[in-house]
Amino acid sequence: MQDKPYFCPNCRSNRVKFSMISSFSQRFMKDALTGTVQEVTEPQQIQDTEPTIQCLVCSFTGNEMRFIKQAEREPRSVTPTDPSYS
Ligand SMILES: [Zn+2]
Repeated sequence: MQDKPYFCPNCRSNRVKFSMISSFSQRFMKDALTGTVQEVTEPQQIQDTEPTIQCLVCSFTGNEMRFIKQAEREPRSVTPTDPSYS
């Protein structure tokens, strides 16, 4: 995850509440005859080069870069007169 501002490109109202969607790999052996699962290994997180981010306002899910690019296109206003500034 990059230490950069996000801005949801879908609802365009969220810059703060996100969830990272990650994938896990879990190996197991199956019995060829009965189909019984055997020898389950510990789940291992798959390191994606670019994490998948979900907006917790509208549930839009996309690559991290889409959120970063949107934040770069529409930077947060930092003028003190902005009433939504916090
Ligand atoms: Zn959103």
